[in-house]
Amino acid sequence: MSLCPKCGKASKGLCVECFFEEHPLELADVKLCSCGVCGRIRYRDKWDARLDDVRRDVERGMKPPFEISLNKVEVKPSVDEGGLILHATLEGSYHSSKFKKELSKKIKLQKTTCPTCSRKNSGYFEAVLQFRCEMPDLPVDESQIAKIEKVRGGLDYYLLSNNYARGIASQLSKKGYEIKTSNQTFSRRDGREVYRIFYSIKKEK
Ligand SMILES: [Zn+2]
Ligand SMILES: [Zn+2]
Repeated sequence: MSLCPKCGKASKGLCVECFFEEHPLELADVKLCSCGVCGRIRYRDKWDARLDDVRRDVERGMKPPFEISLNKVEVKPSVDEGGLILHATLEGSYHSSKFKKELSKKIKLQKTTCPTCSRKNSGYFEAVLQFRCEMPDLPVDESQIAKIEKVRGGLDYYLLSNNYARGIASQLSKKGYEIKTSNQTFSRRDGREVYRIFYSIKKEK
């Protein structure tokens, strides 16, 4: 009968415990950033990352030594204040011994500022909804608002995206509001003039 050269237990070559001591299984490294202002998470250059993508990549990223065959890899990612926690359940075999292992790993989220928040900080805006009426019963997405100013006769909503502003304006127009638009050039991009759009919103009488 042959013995494990390390611990002396009956085994052909290194036993499974000693093998893992020398070749620990590790979960693949992933890099994630989070926005220090709003908390959104970026993964692989995408904001609002899905943890499911992280799970898939970590599961696929398991590269055990050739002596090990894995039958089951199950990774559960979760996020808490300290960062991303990966918890994995692995089942497989080493020569003729079966094993089951639980691994976990904590990944620190790098702090950054997402494009929406940095635009907000820089005073950037593409459109202004000029409400000159009672505020309509229509929610405006908080993350789209650069600032709100009280002016004579109503409120000005400075918005980060004109696409978004146009959507709101068109919904209001369907509800019977009177919308007038005007432009103001504010920069050139690729030789093209870029406008800020002002939507004056009134209630038809
Ligand atoms: Zn051993
Ligand atoms: Zn943000």
